[in-house]
This record gives sequence, structure tokens and C-alpha cells, in this order.
Amino acid sequence: MSVKEIFETMEYGPAPEAAAPGLAWIQERTPFNLFINNQWVKPASGQYIDSINPATGKRLAQVAAATSADVDAAVAAARAAFETWSKAPGHVRARYIYAIARHIQKHARLLAVLESLDNGKPIRETRDIDIPLVARHFYYHAGWAQLMESELPGYQSVGVVGQIIPWNFPLLMLAWKIAPALAMGNTVVLKPARYTSLTALKFAEIVQEIGLPPGVVNILTGEASQVGEALVQHPGINKIAFTGSTDVGRSIRRATAGSGKKLSLELGGKSPFIVFDDADLDSVVEGVVDAIWFNQGQVCCAGSRLLVQENIADRLIEKLRERMEHLRIGDPLDKAVDIGAIVSPGQLKEIQRLVNTGVEEGAVMWQPSWACPTEGYFFPPTLFTNVSPATTIAQVEIFGPVLVSMTFRTPAEAVELANNTRYGLAASVWSENINLALDVAPKLKAGTVWINCTNLFDATSGFGGYRESGFGREGGKEGLYEYVRPKWETLEAPAKEFHIAGESASTNGSKPAVSADEDREFEGGEQLLDGYTPMLPAIDRTPKMFIGGKQTRPDSGYSRDVYDPQGQVIGQVGEGNRKDIRNAVEAAHAAGGWAAGTTHNRAQILYYIAENLSVREDEFARRIVQQTGRSYADAAAEVQAAISRLFSYAAWADKYEGAVHRPPLRGVALAMPEAIGVIGMACPEEYPLLGFVSLVAPAIAMGNTIVVIPSQVAPLSATDCYQVLETSDLPAGVVNIVTGDRDLLSQVLAEHDDVDAMWYFGPAEGCKRVELASAGNMKRTWVSYGHPRDWMDTVQGEGEEFLREATQVKNVWVPYGE
Ligand code: NDP
Repeated sequence: MSVKEIFETMEYGPAPEAAAPGLAWIQERTPFNLFINNQWVKPASGQYIDSINPATGKRLAQVAAATSADVDAAVAAARAAFETWSKAPGHVRARYIYAIARHIQKHARLLAVLESLDNGKPIRETRDIDIPLVARHFYYHAGWAQLMESELPGYQSVGVVGQIIPWNFPLLMLAWKIAPALAMGNTVVLKPARYTSLTALKFAEIVQEIGLPPGVVNILTGEASQVGEALVQHPGINKIAFTGSTDVGRSIRRATAGSGKKLSLELGGKSPFIVFDDADLDSVVEGVVDAIWFNQGQVCCAGSRLLVQENIADRLIEKLRERMEHLRIGDPLDKAVDIGAIVSPGQLKEIQRLVNTGVEEGAVMWQPSWACPTEGYFFPPTLFTNVSPATTIAQVEIFGPVLVSMTFRTPAEAVELANNTRYGLAASVWSENINLALDVAPKLKAGTVWINCTNLFDATSGFGGYRESGFGREGGKEGLYEYVRPKWETLEAPAKEFHIAGESASTNGSKPAVSADEDREFEGGEQLLDGYTPMLPAIDRTPKMFIGGKQTRPDSGYSRDVYDPQGQVIGQVGEGNRKDIRNAVEAAHAAGGWAAGTTHNRAQILYYIAENLSVREDEFARRIVQQTGRSYADAAAEVQAAISRLFSYAAWADKYEGAVHRPPLRGVALAMPEAIGVIGMACPEEYPLLGFVSLVAPAIAMGNTIVVIPSQVAPLSATDCYQVLETSDLPAGVVNIVTGDRDLLSQVLAEHDDVDAMWYFGPAEGCKRVELASAGNMKRTWVSYGHPRDWMDTVQGEGEEFLREATQVKNVWVPYGE
């Protein structure tokens, strides 16, 4: 080709990256063994599986197929290593993690080439995005290891963590999992995806190279049915961290239910890419390229639903088609290639199937005129228009280079369309009007919102989903809590009976309404009236349900008796059923505006509830005595603690704030703790008032609306609260109370698709049932696994742990500059 011709066509020539170093590295080592206790170990099965280059369809290497015997060995190594690694000073761990970051950089090019060969993604992406982010993640977490003792003083390591990662960002997902786990003093057994194990094996070499103590990191390659499931079920594992499909996430939720294993799930998505009519359309086009054709669209947070304001839709679609015509697909090791290969023939088939469904459903499909390479697994960038929001391609995660577009007229309609999905991983908003963009961002149900940008990631900023996109965050300080647990959890269980000294009933030196050291027993029925004891029966009190701000009768028409410790009936409460729960959830949703109100307002209302409770301190103390048979002083101390707890959350309401991250770009990421939505909660049996307040107060302080099941044996303290709540300006529907059989009602709440989280403080069996039932819509759960908690203790009974459970962090990325 002459220079003149080159200038005329401006065609790119090939710019291949040499595959030789990567291939040589593979050749020297294949077949690869398992990495256990810093040794390369043959798999117990003696079996190996092929690893294929998706760009050619040819075999690259063979990797060991681990089975449960290898899982046992790896977990044993990790357990032994945990003893010393978790006790090592943070500075020691920081040095090792820092060394890993350094060595990732030293081997950066080899890792980038291996990743492209193994996964099929363009070298431009592995070289400039995946591998630099991997190094950054280890650097960032070396810092958290250093700071753990001072920044997370009340926390300890979780133990041995089983980590299961997908094939779309093989080394990056490894980094997201291993870096925080190690920083917080855990040891790990990691399973890479079967299609993409090579960079994890190179990582194992780095672990050896830097001299990480044996057993801290173990890597088991193989099949999901052999390694993945064995890891999930292994009794020696304390936590599972998983990234992958929602279906597998759901099965892991079910498999770990009731086991006490901590769990974090990063699952699928169908993220909206919202374009308002004042957006810079040329930037938008490049944004779309990054949103859906980055990594062939095999990205959990891919902007796969293009939502465009109607008046600019035609213009944008035309520009997009023009741009698509110029995208280059082909050899992933060619530096001028935009789109590489799809990871496997199975994935390719699935993409084709969903595209066919789109066409059958009446959407209009468009693909560029050029053809894909015939060798290997390639799929062209694809654009659907005329898509209706309920169709398969608008709802199902395609996980390929396929974009579906829809239009809207108003910002409200855009938000509604955007949230019309079972997922909630990410969203992208494009507008030159920053006021509009920042107004829309909090209304989107998504863990990350990018404004005028997309698919930006950094270790500072937590990443993770809402709804069926899973729970837990990776990155940022919030991500660390996935790998720690409160120190008090390993302390001796508190004694069943709490004998509170008389003086503890009086806090801050104020005089209690009734002398605490009186220590008298409550005598019901007889009341002194003007010095004369009438022979009048006490006026019957009928505690009902509290739903939507109204006291309502139970749907069942039945009541259940409440007994004192001697077995005497002391009252009746409504026998709640499925219908009552449904009404309560509806009322809680209708009160959703609570989250949008000011934190100042929420604080004021919590103070007001405390004030109104304190006016009736004596009555509440007596009620506790009546239900529990505890001493009056003890009961009065519980009421005082409840009042103090309300003050604590009133204080926190306007102080539990987010952070402004400075990722390495011109811009900021605003980490905002947001309410989760509707939380269902089952209160502990002990401490009828304090247990109730300890759960209700943090949840509503953070803007959630709730459906509460009070203590089953002692519900009257909660039902007595109706009047306190009614007189404290709390909007109707923010707190809904349904009495009855705790486990039956918890089951209904945990199964309910419109409940966003479920808290359960009760026996281990009940915890398991709640975790199992929650898998339906992947709601977040917080359960006690039957472990008692000292509710009187301010470390165990209140504080950040509760606030964290009541919120989820949304990261809003705001770049700036021209
Ligand atoms: P999977 O969820 O099946 O795989 C993810 C990881 O989990 C892999 O390591 C896999 O092992 C392992 N795994 C699979 N089943 C189990 C199990 N029962 N117990 C324990 N571990 C298990 O994703 P796929 O690779 O099959 O992809 C299917 C779809 O999932 C994609 O089309 C896409 O929609 C979605 N996906 C989403 C991702 C995300 O980041 N959100 C990432 C990848 C996929 P193995 O590789 O051996 O099968």
C-alpha cells in the first residue's frame, strides 16, 4: 500500500502484540497443577481440563481439575495459616500486599498478554485497564492493612474465605477478592472460572515470589460442580465471596443458609444508560462504546439499556450506527482492535439465542455491514430499536455486545424506565445540566451511578448492587466490612439474666420517675384512687396491629394470649397473618417519601419519640416486669437504655455521612449511604422494649420504612409504643407492627418480593429459614444465628454495625473539567 493510498483510506494497519512470551510461559508449565500451601500439587483426581483461546478455538493449556479432596487440603492449609496471618501486625500484612502490587507491575505485560489469550479481550483493555486496576487494588489495600488497627478497632478477621470468581475480568476479580481479604487478616481459597485460570496461576507464582507465608492464598482450578460447590459447603470456610450469575448466586444463598457463613454476592445487571436531550451527543456515542462494547459487553455493569429522550433519539441512533460501522473486531492481541472474542462457544450461542428472541419479539435489529472473523468466537456489535420495556431483551442480562434502546419524555419517566428491572448494579446519566443529573442519580436503584461517564472503577469507591444484583460492596472502606466481624462476637456469651445495679436505672444523674432501688414487684389491677381502693376491674386494653399509622384488627380475627412468667394470661395481641404482612409492606412502601426527607427532620422525630417515651417511663417499666418477671430496677434500666438508644440514633441521623473519594481522574466519586428501602424485622425475645427500639431506631434514622414483628413472648411493650409513635409526628407507614407467630410472619416477610432486607434475631433454625426464603429476590439479610447479644451493652446493642446494616452505599461519579 502506498503512502498516498494510506492517506486516502486512513485504514488502520495491524499492530500486533507479541504472543510469544505468554505462550512460552504457558508451554513451560502446562499442565498446571493446583496451588496449595505455596506448593504446586497434582489434583487428587489426576484429571486436567483444557483452557481454550477464544480467538482461535484452539487449546492453550491444561489446568488441574480439583475435587473435594483438594478443597479439604486447601482449606486445611488456609486454616493453619490463619492462626499466624490474622495475628500478624497490620504493618507486616501491608508489606506483603505492597510487594504483591509491585510484582503485578513488574509482570504487567505478561499478565496482560495472558489475559487476552485466555479470555479473548483486547490487549488495549487488559494492558490499560485490567492490570493497572489490579495493581491499584493491592496498593490501596496495603494501606488498609496498615490502618486496620486504628481505623477498625472493634473488628477482627473473619477466618478462611472461599472466593469464586467469573471469567469476564479474571485477574481483576481475583484482586477485588484477595486484596481486602488479606488486608483484614483472612486467608483464602480461590476458585477461578474454568475458562480463565491462567492469570490466577501466574498470580500464584507471584505469591511464591514475594514469599507470602504458605497457606495464606490457595488457588484451585477446576469445575463448578467439583470445586465451587465443595467450597460453598465446606465447614472449614467462614465466608463465601462470589461474583457471577444471579442464578448461581441464589443457589449459593440457599446452600449457605443457616451455616453462619458470611456471604457477599456480586451478581448480574441490566444497567440503564440515560441520555437527556441536552447531553453532548458525541461524548454520549463514545460513552455507549465504553458502556456496552467494552469487553464485548461481558460486563456485569454494562450499560445495556440505552434510554434516550424522545426528541433526540433519531439523531443519536444515527450517530451510533455510524460509529458502530467503524468499530474494529478481531485478534485480541492487535492493539488497534476494539472488540475481541466472546469467552466460549456456549456464551456465543446464548447471545445469539437472545438476539433471535429480540427479533421474534418484534424489535428492530441492526448490525454493521462488515463480517466477523470466522475462526474463534466472535459476535458483532448489535443495536436494537423499537424495543418495548417488558420484552425479554429489555429485561434479561444478555452479557454480550448487544444494546437495546428505548425512549422517554420526562425525567420522571426516565427514572421509572431505568428502575424497571430486577437488577440494580449501575447506571449512567448524561446531561449537561448537572442539577438534573444530580437530581436523578439518587432516584436510581443502583449501587453506582456515573454522571457523563461510564464503567469507571477505582479501589477507593465501593462497587456492588441493589436488589437481584446482590449485596455487599467491593472496594472502598465499605468493602472492608465484608471481611471482618465485631470482636465481641468471640467473647463469652452474656449471662441469660442481666442484673443491672440499681443506679444504672438513672442515667446522667437525672432522677428516675420511680426510685430504681425500690426493686418492687408489679401488682396489676389494684390502683389507688384518691386514697380509696375501688373494687373496679381494670379497663380492658386491646393492642391491635399498627399498620399505615392506624391501629387495625388482625385479618385472621384471632388473638393470641400473652402470659406472664407464672403462666397467667396478661393480655391478648392480634394473630397476624400473610394478609396483615402484605398490608404492612404496602403501607411501608407508601411511606417511601421518608427517605427523601431531611436527616434533621428524622433526628427531630427520634428525639421526640424518646421524649414521649420518657414521660411514660414508669408505665413501660411496669409492663416489662409484668411480662418478664424481672425486677423493677432492671426493667427501669431497660427503659432508660431504650431512651438513650433513641437519643443515639437521633444523633446519628444527621451524622452518618458518606465520603468524597478522589479516584485517579479529574473528578470525584460521592459515596452516599442510602436507605435500603423496606426492611422486615423480627425482634429478639429478650428485652421486649430495648430489643424493639434497638432495631427500629437505626432503621428509621437512616430513612428506611419497616415492618416489625415484636418479641413473640413479650409483645406488649411494642404494642404500647403505638401511642408513643402516634404522638411523635412519625409519618404513617414508617413503622408498621404486626404481632403473632414470629417464625411464620418472618417467613412471609423474607419471601416477600417487595421487602428489600430482612433482619432476624432469634434461634439458629429461624435464621436458616430466613436466609433460605430470602433467596427469591436476593434480599439482604442480617441474622443472629442464635447467638445472644447483650442489648444493654452499647458496643453490642447499638452503633455503626446497625447503621451499616440499615444502609447501602451508592457511589456517584462526577467528572469535571472541559
Ligand atoms: P456462573 O455464575 O455460572 O460462574 C461464575 C463462577 O461461579 C465460576 O467460577 C463458576 O465456575 C462458579 N460456579 C458456577 N456454578 C457454581 C455453583 N453451583 N457453586 C459454586 N460455584 C459455581 O457464570 P457463567 O460463567 O456460567 O456465566 C453465565 C451467565 O452469568 C453469563 O451469561 C452472565 O449473564 C452471568 N455472569 C455475570 C457475571 C458478573 O460479573 N455479574 C460474571 C460472569 C457471568 P465454572 O467456571 O467452573 O463454571
